[in-house]
Amino acid sequence: MSETKFSSVVELSKLLQTKQVSAVELAQDYLSRIEAHKELNCFLDVRPEETLAQAREADKRIAEGTAGRLTGIPIAHKDIFVTKEWASTAASRMLEGYMSPFDAAVVSKLKAAGMVNLGKLNCDEFAMGSSNENSAYGKVLNPWDVNAVPGGSSGGSSACVAAGLAPIVTATDTGGSIREPASFTGVTGVKPSYGRPSRLGMIAFASSLDTAGLMAHTVEDIAWVLGDMVGHEPWDSTSENLPAEDFTRDLTRGVKGMRIGVPRAWFTEALDPEVAAAVNNVIEEYRRQGAEIVDVELPSADLGVSVYYVVACAEASSNLSRFDGVRYGYRAKEYTDIQDMIKKSRNEGFGAEPKRRILIGTYVLSHGYYDAYYLKAQKVRRLISQEFDQAFTKVDAIISPVTTGTAYDFGAKKDPVQAYLGDLYTVPASLAGLPCMSMPCGVHSNGRPIGVQLTCARFEEAKMLGIANAWQQVTDWHQRHPKGY
Ligand code: GLN
Repeated sequence: MSETKFSSVVELSKLLQTKQVSAVELAQDYLSRIEAHKELNCFLDVRPEETLAQAREADKRIAEGTAGRLTGIPIAHKDIFVTKEWASTAASRMLEGYMSPFDAAVVSKLKAAGMVNLGKLNCDEFAMGSSNENSAYGKVLNPWDVNAVPGGSSGGSSACVAAGLAPIVTATDTGGSIREPASFTGVTGVKPSYGRPSRLGMIAFASSLDTAGLMAHTVEDIAWVLGDMVGHEPWDSTSENLPAEDFTRDLTRGVKGMRIGVPRAWFTEALDPEVAAAVNNVIEEYRRQGAEIVDVELPSADLGVSVYYVVACAEASSNLSRFDGVRYGYRAKEYTDIQDMIKKSRNEGFGAEPKRRILIGTYVLSHGYYDAYYLKAQKVRRLISQEFDQAFTKVDAIISPVTTGTAYDFGAKKDPVQAYLGDLYTVPASLAGLPCMSMPCGVHSNGRPIGVQLTCARFEEAKMLGIANAWQQVTDWHQRHPKGY
């Protein structure tokens, strides 16, 4: 049944509805591929019994005629979402083996739609990173080239889809963690507007930025699933109360008459010429299809990385204070008193990157530095947001590169600041809470995929997905797969 390997969600749905395949067969098919590709280290927890129980439930609904279009479709979740039946670790020693008493809102909504969970996906510890090298459970390999990083922090998610181990996966994006890994592995990744999906049950990194999203082979698949993933959650004060939407509604609208903005200032010498050429090629295709291409200016966007690492670390230092060895998570084996217990538990439970961010965050929030760093960062964040608002009075979408180059080799970025600077193009939209995505637009001469980034105004997900589909309708970059998978 390996012909379903790279099938889209839409194709699988048809096979299930017409009973050409059962949910159990489909789950078994994916589980056996997951087992066969353990070398990629995509999964942190696989429990075939739990998966098959959900698949049997889906088959029952299909037989009864109470199934929806997503019933029986396999999905895997980034290990930032807590799940009842699978361990939830955020790829940290701190939460090793942790069993949550509840499912994250995103997980329970997709479960209610009948989707079958294949397991939990590896990522950078607490979603802090850009290469998946920060996981406490080892790096994830990029199926395109095992010497290349799969991107991060959602590297397990991106590699899983790229290798055909799940047709669609959840991921989270705080400053680029859906878009960058999607781009590095040739898959489509969508970060909706901040607050559109609920953060309830997402292990918090930076609360004002963390956003749940999806990765899949096609933008159409994401449009299909997104509606079932989002929605107001009364227990989450940052969740938006918006009417339900059909995110597929603009998929065939095309780009004729639209205005698409290009931040020309982002095309510097730092940008790999082949990446620039691939992005320009998408721009030219949109022009050919009748869009008007205009220059836009986002003068404060180049301060995005500095602002992001102040705000994100400040929020992380506060969020991670709950891991004290008292309530849940890791507790040191030996200690003298409570202070010593907390100190040792945090020291042994957290990896280097969370520790670095706790230190930065505590520093920028401390008395005497708060105004100079944190408050200033918040002001510049507002400016970045206003510049986007201004741009969206003139354009329907903004197109840009996702990163300056393709996936790099493991170990290539030794200095953390080097890694942080790689988030140059992805953090501005995060700071402004905008819907933003990456889709494949080429393969570099080094054999690694290239992605292009689209950004729209807040809550204009449907428009963004439509613009993306106008590209995928006439190209097949999203249908290229790594050799051997
Ligand atoms: N690379 C960024 C960071 O390390 C973004 C991470 C994310 O979006 N979760 O913080």
